[in-house]
Amino acid sequence: MRLKQFDTSKIKVRGGGGRGRGARRAGGIGCGTLVIALIAAFMFDIDPSQTVALIDGMDNGQSTASQSPQNDLSEQQLCMSGPYARESCNALQSLNETWEPEFRRAGIPFEQPELVIYPPGPIRTNGCGNTSSAAGPFYCPADYGIYIETSFFDELARMSGTGGDFARLYVIAHEYGHHIQNLTGLSNQVRSLQQRNPQAANQLTVRMELQADCYAGVWAGKNRNLIERGDLEEGLRAASAVGDDTIMRNAGRRINPDNFTHGTSAQRMEALRLGLESADDTACDAYFDFR
Ligand SMILES: [Zn+2]
Repeated sequence: MRLKQFDTSKIKVRGGGGRGRGARRAGGIGCGTLVIALIAAFMFDIDPSQTVALIDGMDNGQSTASQSPQNDLSEQQLCMSGPYARESCNALQSLNETWEPEFRRAGIPFEQPELVIYPPGPIRTNGCGNTSSAAGPFYCPADYGIYIETSFFDELARMSGTGGDFARLYVIAHEYGHHIQNLTGLSNQVRSLQQRNPQAANQLTVRMELQADCYAGVWAGKNRNLIERGDLEEGLRAASAVGDDTIMRNAGRRINPDNFTHGTSAQRMEALRLGLESADDTACDAYFDFR
């Protein structure tokens, strides 16, 4: 996509290490360790229960954040710290500019998420405990943080067989999709549904993930004039590469729909395409239309 150059006055960016705006709504929305673990498992075939253990084990205030040199970088320096960081900052601004008016139209208060660009290794969030870059990009509802360790994008290129920019933009836009769900209150609703009906928890998580894919598509669809040849294919290939069935198959595991967290490759491609072609976020409501 031909995104314009970021302007740090229009985005929120920080380095890793847990210093930042601090957890918001403490005791309110909370984090939902399970939800976060599942979201953190966005790309890799990690067992979410391990992430839960990791988060729970480290989130007692006992561990201290590793002081990362990235803590001291300005937003400008962080965004210019590499081509992926720069691209992510460009995408973030475009996402803000696309979604903010939609919230205004819907009469829902909007707040920008914060992009956290952190180095490989452990990462401490403000409100979602600690995890590791091995978990892939994730969104922390408690601090409105989109957490990215940019070398992940090399792994994504390997997995999807495409080094194209749109595959990476799809990832950022998907995490932004979780921010939208957080602001609209959907994540909270889903969480209480899951508590009331644990048997449906997995299915609901899959719906949330597919809706985030759909929102990613809506962003691209609303910026159709910026789309370049091959972008759609790159996005679909990335969506296919991160489908639960494909990940399980590539890991040599039996494909077990009960363990799906994000949907099959076909479902993820379909969700992205639905958003892209409709360019209408209400189309993504379909994932929570139980009628
Ligand atoms: Zn997700």
